[in-house]
Formats: sequence, C-alpha cells, structure tokens
Amino acid sequence: MFDGFINSLYILASIFFILSLGGLSHQTSAVRGNVFGILGMILAVLGTIAARVTDNLEIVVAMMAIGGLIGILVSRRVQMTAMPQLVAILHSLVGLAAVFVGFANFIEPLKTYEGVENIVHEVEIFIGVFIGAITFTGSVAAFGKLQGIITSRPLMLPARHWLNLVIIIVSIWLGAQFLGNESHAAATNFLLIMTLLAFLLGLHLVLAIGGADMPVVISMLNSYSGWAAAATGFMLESDLLILVGALVGSSGAILSYIMCRAMNRHFVSVIMGGFGTTGGSASSAVEGEISEILSDEAAMLVETARSVVIVPGYGMAVAHAQHPVAELTKKLQAHNIDVRFAIHPVAGRMPGHMNVLLAEARVPYDIVFEMDEINPSMPDTDVVLVIGANDIVNPSAQDTPDSPIAGMPVIEVWKAKHTIVLKRSMASGYAGVDNPLFYKENNRMYFGDAKDSVDRLVALVSWSLELTKFKS
Ligand code: NDP
Repeated sequence: MFDGFINSLYILASIFFILSLGGLSHQTSAVRGNVFGILGMILAVLGTIAARVTDNLEIVVAMMAIGGLIGILVSRRVQMTAMPQLVAILHSLVGLAAVFVGFANFIEPLKTYEGVENIVHEVEIFIGVFIGAITFTGSVAAFGKLQGIITSRPLMLPARHWLNLVIIIVSIWLGAQFLGNESHAAATNFLLIMTLLAFLLGLHLVLAIGGADMPVVISMLNSYSGWAAAATGFMLESDLLILVGALVGSSGAILSYIMCRAMNRHFVSVIMGGFGTTGGSASSAVEGEISEILSDEAAMLVETARSVVIVPGYGMAVAHAQHPVAELTKKLQAHNIDVRFAIHPVAGRMPGHMNVLLAEARVPYDIVFEMDEINPSMPDTDVVLVIGANDIVNPSAQDTPDSPIAGMPVIEVWKAKHTIVLKRSMASGYAGVDNPLFYKENNRMYFGDAKDSVDRLVALVSWSLELTKFKS
C-alpha cells in the first residue's frame, strides 16, 4: 500500500518533469514549465524522504535546511551576468555527488550482491564515478573560464589527443582490475586511481576547448551532469533518479547538437578541442578608420527609419540595459517604426540568455526573431542597433577563412543600410577576435555603457515624440 503510494508520487513527479521540459521549449510556456519542474521536485524529494529515510531524519532535514539557505542566498545575490558560471558550478556539484555516492556505495553497499548482480552493480559504480569525476573537474574549469579566472584560450598540450586516449585506455584497464576483485582494499585503490585520472581528463578536455566553443561545452556539461545523475540512480536503485538523469542527459545532448549546428561545428571536433585560438593571422589586426556617432545623431537616425532591428549581446546583460531597450522599442513603435529583435543562438554567455533578458523586460515575443529568420530581411532594414554584441555580428566569420570563428553563422547586420554599435571601447568579444564591422562605411560606433547610451536615446526619442504630438 505504502510502496504503491510512493510509486504513484514518483510517476506524478516524472510526468511533471516531462511537462516541465516541454514548457521550457518555448518562451510563452517557460514560466509554466518552471512551475511544473518545481512541483515535480517537491514530490520527488518528499517521496524519497518518505520511502528511504528510516532513521537520521533530523540530519537529512538539517542538511536540507543548510543547503536550501545557501541556495536562497546565492540566488538572491547572483547577478544575471554570472548565471552561466552559477550553472557551471552547480553542474560540478552533480558530478561530485555521483563520485561520493559511488564510493559510499562501494565501501558500504545498501545490500549484498552476489555473482552477476554484483558485477552489474560494480559496473554501475565504476561508470558513475568516471562520468561524475569528468563532470566535476570539467565544470570547475568551465566556471573558471566563464568567470575570467582562467584564460578562454585553449590549452594546447603537445600530443594532447594521445594523453586523453591513454587516460581512457588506462581507465578501462583499471575497470577490468576493479570488477570482481577479491580484495576490497585493492579494488578501492583501482577505483581511486581511476577517479584521479578522470578528474584530470575532465579538466584537460575543457581546458583544451577555446572561447568560441564554450557554448557547446556548457550544454555538454549539462548533458554529462544528467548522465552522472542517471548513473547515481542506478547505484541507488532509484527509478526516478534514472529517469530524471536521462531526461537531463538527453535534453543536454540535443541542446549540444543544436548549438553545434548554430556554430557550424562538428560535435567531435568540439570535444577534441583546440578551436577558438586567439590571434589567427588574418583576424588579429583589422585596419581602417572608425566613425563615431553622438546621441543626437543616433536618435535622429533611428527615429527617421522605417525599420529598426535590435541585436542584443553579452554587453546588454552586463549593462542591465534590457529595460531601457524595451522602453526604446515602445517609443519607436509609437513613431510607427517597425522594430524587431534578432537573437543569435550563442549570444551572451548561456543558451537562451538574451531571450531570458528580453522576457524579463516584457518585450513581446512576436517581435523577437531567430538569426535564420531575420538574416534574409537585413538588406531591407534601415538601421540595426547592435547593443553590446560583438562576435555574433562579426563578418570575418564569413569572409576570413583563417579566423578563429570562421564558419560560425552570424547576424549579417552589415547588409542593412546603417548599423550603430553600442559598446564602451574597441575591445574584442569573448572569442578575442577583432571585428571588421566597426570599420565599415555604413557603421557608426556609439561609445559608452549600453544602459546610459540607450537611456539617452529613450530621452531624445521621447522628446521628439512629444514635439510631433504638440505640432499635430
Ligand atoms: P561578445 O562577448 O562577443 O561581446 C560583448 C561585447 O559587449 C564586448 O565586445 C564588450 O565591448 C561589450 N560590453 C561589455 N560590457 C558592456 C557595457 N556595459 N556596455 C556596452 N557594451 C558592453 O558577446 P556576443 O553576445 O556578441 O557573443 C557571445 C560570445 O560568447 C560568443 O563568442 C560565444 O561563443 C561566447 N559564449 C557564449 C555562450 C552561450 O551559451 N551563449 C557560452 C560561453 C561563451 P566593450 O568592452 O568595448 O564594451
């Protein structure tokens, strides 16, 4: 009776998780998707405590209270721009948990296994610890790169592919020694050595990946963390954890595939690393003159346009400019100007970063378009406002074959009649590549913090709107 009740809780939780993923696939249903996810997690936690915690309940409650408190504090303090790093560090915890559960399960199993059952259990432990250890150090390295503690340049050790291969082969050998080993102490040592090697592999795999490929790394680690959770589910014989882990693992893998397609990269070559090295010969120094624009002229250019496209990038997130940008959109629409947003799949520092910011500022979804939808209409666009974006509008991705970002699809803003780039300096973007767009004849640089610049535009456009009303 009790088991049946717990199982129905788990089934309900699983349904909520599936509905949650479905909801998160579109902006309009994303909030609903989050609510489903929260409900699913509440049921899963309650069901697990009811089913499994027979003693030490007070320790579990105390740990949940401490963890929950840390979670609340972090979520209140973390800046929207630091969200990708937070996600990376949270993935690392999933990996570490899989390692701990694996060791705990081996040292003191939940029950005694015999014969084939024992081998299967040991395989689950070995694979779970292996994936968990790679996820842990890989995510820590990704955190370091996103936080700017570690350089975004790829680490190019000599014979690095051989190094990875040797680690994998030695790990397989260690696995063969570990399985069914009569001596528990020797088996623990084999597991320990494999864990250290897997830590090294995770670190090396991510350090070898250059800045331009980081979006794929983020989604890939997301996928790894799912598989690590699924492996933990096998070790703990928890169907729910297996299901949730598989959902996260497969959705992360699909996301990685989508990101690879968006960047025109092959998944295997991303994993092999080395892409995104800074300082490609043709891309390192762009020569020419830039033309600056001041607020009055920029405002005049946008308010006399018929169509305006706004391309947001990481700088919009840094400047917290999304609310003034939404305000500017309303003002321009009041001038009967057609305003649309162009979203690049890897804009910002995490998948969907720009969509989240625009949704927060209540920009209507029907004027937000993906890169592929908007590129064909660029030649008919009067003005493009590039707000804190750089790599995603870099023409060298198309016309400089040895550029570190060569082949990455970009938003073809330079085909519009005018472009105005809002940024603080001539600094390069995340990939560390110079941008020839800034030197094009139809481009003007509007220097300053994106929020201040857009605030000024809003004020000027509002003023001229009032003037038009007054005249009529
Ligand atoms: P970029 O990092 O290429 O450029 C952002 C630009 O914003 C900078 O050139 C910077 O110039 C400007 N900026 C920063 N702060 C401000 C501010 N306060 N006001 C105005 N401008 C500002 O961003 P993009 O969005 O164009 O491209 C994303 C890059 O990040 C790609 O290379 C992508 O591969 C990578 N990436 C993406 C991930 C994802 O999942 N989306 C994950 C990890 C990496 P300045 O300093 O002169 O102001």
